[in-house]
Amino acid sequence: MIANESFHVDSVCVLGATGSIGISTLDVIGRHPSKYKVHSLTAFNKWQELYQQCEKFKPEYAVLVDEAAAEKLEHKCRVEGLDVNVMAGEEALEYVAAHESVDIVMAAIVGAAGLQANLSAARKGKKILLANKESLVMSGELFMKEVDRSSSTLLPIDSEHNAIFQCLPTGYRCGESLTKDVRRVMLTASGGPFRGYSSEALSKVSVAEACNHPKWSMGQKISVDSASLMNKGLELIEACWLFNIAPKQIDVHVHPESIIHSMVEYQDGSVIAQMGNPYMRTPIAYGLAWPERIESGVSSLDLFSVSSLHFEKPDHAVFPCLRLAEEAFIAGGSSCATLNAANEVAVDAFLKGNIPFYKIPDIIERVLSVAPCSKILSIDDVMNADSLARGLAHEEISKLMSSSLTLHL
Ligand code: NAD
Ligand code: MG
Repeated sequence: MIANESFHVDSVCVLGATGSIGISTLDVIGRHPSKYKVHSLTAFNKWQELYQQCEKFKPEYAVLVDEAAAEKLEHKCRVEGLDVNVMAGEEALEYVAAHESVDIVMAAIVGAAGLQANLSAARKGKKILLANKESLVMSGELFMKEVDRSSSTLLPIDSEHNAIFQCLPTGYRCGESLTKDVRRVMLTASGGPFRGYSSEALSKVSVAEACNHPKWSMGQKISVDSASLMNKGLELIEACWLFNIAPKQIDVHVHPESIIHSMVEYQDGSVIAQMGNPYMRTPIAYGLAWPERIESGVSSLDLFSVSSLHFEKPDHAVFPCLRLAEEAFIAGGSSCATLNAANEVAVDAFLKGNIPFYKIPDIIERVLSVAPCSKILSIDDVMNADSLARGLAHEEISKLMSSSLTLHL
C-alpha cells in the first residue's frame, strides 16, 4: 500500500512551551489533532504549567532545565500515571530538538538560552520554526551555514519576517539571495508603548508600563525590547541573515496599528504587504502548515473598524537601540553576540528594578565600546563573546547601582 501524504502526522518539539509563543503554538496544534502530534515539550522551571500541557498533549518527552523542577514534574507524572519521559538540564533540550522522531521544532525559548537546541535541530535537518531571534542575532553566519548544510527548512515566526517571507516569490528559501527584482524590504514596527515619548518622559517609565505593549501580548523580555526598539534592532539583524540582505536594503516603518506586518517592494514599484490581526497564531499556523495553510483561530481582519493606517520614521534620538544594532551588524565579528548579551543583562536588570529603562541603551553602547570585536569561527567563539559581554554589562550595572546608592545617601 502506498502511504498517503495527507495522512502524515507531523511530530512537533516545542522548545519554550510554557511561554507566550509556546502556548500559542499548542493552541494551533490543538485545533489540528489529525495533522500534528506533540513529541516533546520544554520549559525552564514552570513544572505545573508543563504538567498541564503534558496532560493535554501527551508528549513522549518533557524537559525542564531546572533539575529540582524536573524532579517535581516526574513525581507528579508518576503519581498521576502519566506516561512521559521527564528529562532535566540543557543537554536534554538538544536531545529532544534533534530526536529522530521529530519533524518540526518550534524554537521559542527566549534569549541566548535557545541557541544550542536550535543549532542541534539545524544540524539534524529539521523543519525549524524560528521565533527565537536572539540565536540568529548571536550566530547568524554559523546558524545559516548549518541550515544550508543539512537542508533544514527554516521558517520565520517573528511576525515581520514571516510577513516578508510570505511577500517573497513562491519557492524562496531562507538564506538564499533575493532576486534583483526586490528593491527593498519595509520592516514595520509598532513603536511600542513609549512611541512619541521624549527622553525626559522616558526617564520615568516603570516596568509595568514597559511590559504593557499596546498591540501584542508577549513575554517580558521581548516586551521590554519592543519598548526600547531593540526588538526592531534584533529584527533588522534577523532579516539580514534570513533574507541575505544588507541593512541599507531595509527601511523601518513605525506603524502603530500593527496591521501590516511588513512589506517587500519590487523594482517595478509594486509593494506587497502581508496584513492581519496582530496575533502570533497566524505566523505560527503558517509555519506549521507551510507550504499549505490551516485554520489558526485568528478572526477576520475588519479594515472598516481599523479605518486608517499610519506610518512614521523611527525616533533614533530617543531610541538609540535600533542604531546600535545596525552598527553591530555592520561591524560584524562578535559585535552582534556582544550586543545581544549586553541587552539581555540590561533588560534583566531593568525588570528586577536595578536600573532605569533609559539606561538600557547606555549599558549596551558602553559594553560594545569596550568589548573586542573578535572573529567568529565557531560556536565556542560566540559563547566566549556572550560571556565576556555579560560580565562587562554586570560591571556597568554594578557601577550604576553603586552611584545611585551614593546619590541617595
Ligand atoms: P516567554 O518569556 O513568554 O517564554 C519563554 C520560554 O522559554 C518559556 O517557556 C521559558 O520556560 C523558556 N525559557 C526561559 N529561559 C530558559 C532557559 N534558560 N532555558 C530553557 N528555556 C528557557 O517568551 P516569548 O514571548 O514566548 O518569546 C520567545 C521567543 O520568541 C523570544 O526569542 C522572542 O523574541 C520570540 N518572539 C516572541 C513573540 C511573541 O509574540 N511573544 C513574537 C516574535 C518573536
Ligand atoms: Mg516581531
